Amino acid sequence: MSTEELALPIDEEPFRGSELEAVDVSAWFGDHKVLQRVSLVMTAGTVTALIGPSGCGKSTFLRILNRMHELVPSASLAGEVLLDGMDIYEPGKRITETRRRIGMVFQKPNPFPAMSIADNVTAGLKLTGTKASRAEKQDLVEECLLKAGLWKEVRDRLKQPGGALSGGQQQRLCIARSLAVRPDVLLMDEPCSALDPTSTRRIEETIAELRHEVTIVIVTHNMQQAARVSQYCAFFLAEAGTPGQIVEAGPTKTMFENPADPRTFDYVNGRF
Ligand code: ADP
Ligand code: MG
Repeated sequence: MSTEELALPIDEEPFRGSELEAVDVSAWFGDHKVLQRVSLVMTAGTVTALIGPSGCGKSTFLRILNRMHELVPSASLAGEVLLDGMDIYEPGKRITETRRRIGMVFQKPNPFPAMSIADNVTAGLKLTGTKASRAEKQDLVEECLLKAGLWKEVRDRLKQPGGALSGGQQQRLCIARSLAVRPDVLLMDEPCSALDPTSTRRIEETIAELRHEVTIVIVTHNMQQAARVSQYCAFFLAEAGTPGQIVEAGPTKTMFENPADPRTFDYVNGRF
């Protein structure tokens, strides 16, 4: 990997987005413990990549970060998740507000297939009870599709169904939909795994742009991608039947070029 490709620059400009911090997070499905005291600060306005082998709890951790973990009846957890210092699991905290502030994009693009492209973008407004006039909605559709890098391709067919787009376009539509409720954090679980290399590049460019306005946490199995799009990395590992833990976290450049733990070195160099 060439050094120019390694890590987005850590920007000088003031950060937007929100800081997200996991403090001693442990998680279970029934009796099965899948995460052990995971602590991680995801700095406002940066991209953090979560890396590690399958089954080490990356998706579980990501879902804990916006309370989607609670949707699994057998799931439980300990620890805290702080959004700008406030615990999102605090009793009485409104879950819809938390999910508005912390958006999620999944591996498999999931636009509403029969709904128009424009309506897909604004679909989240209903869920959050946000009122907007027709003109405001039109502006929002354009703004979010522009940010997701999809506007030029779809501006003349906004009334067509979301399901008519290609896989890569559908994923960018999902990003636009997430942005429409003005999140502070965007969680992405292997957003490019189902996409071809060209679409993957487009999404990576979008991520690089978006980091200026939203804090991004991305799970990826692709080490080149982690190196290209992130400023910080956290390496998860679940060794021999033990729950997933963070072995090491830090600036992407350090994690790839000079990691403290030999297991990190082996993993980022494709040795397991
Ligand atoms: P990763 O995303 O790193 O591949 P996951 O978070 O998906 O890992 O899974 C971590 C562990 O939790 C695995 O052992 C997996 O089998 C288990 N797990 C994930 N989701 C569930 C669930 N809904 N019910 C029970 N076990 C689950
Ligand atoms: Mg996963």
